[in-house]
Amino acid sequence: MSNELEYKYEVEIKSVDKRQTLSKEVKEELKASGLMDEKGKLKIKGVSPKMLKRMKQEFVDCPVLKKEVQFIPCFVCPNFQSRVTGKVLCKGDKL
Ligand code: SF4
Repeated sequence: MSNELEYKYEVEIKSVDKRQTLSKEVKEELKASGLMDEKGKLKIKGVSPKMLKRMKQEFVDCPVLKKEVQFIPCFVCPNFQSRVTGKVLCKGDKL
């Protein structure tokens, strides 16, 4: 791992058995940033359909928002640094 990465939290990624549905707000955000097409299909560069499927089942206990956040909104959050071995490296800035 590079030492150049700056982050405040290592947030464990948890997983549920079932695919989670994204809220309307999150979908709008994803569409606005070009990560979702009009049909609601996610298009994230470099992420395979298999990986996407897995991502839909994941969430974190966000230390900034102090609540559970699904992995996909976490992934596009400005605080998201990277993902390493089951953890999100989070900058931890106020949102
Ligand atoms: S990247 Fe954003 S959503 Fe994810 S844990 Fe950090 S503050 Fe929370």
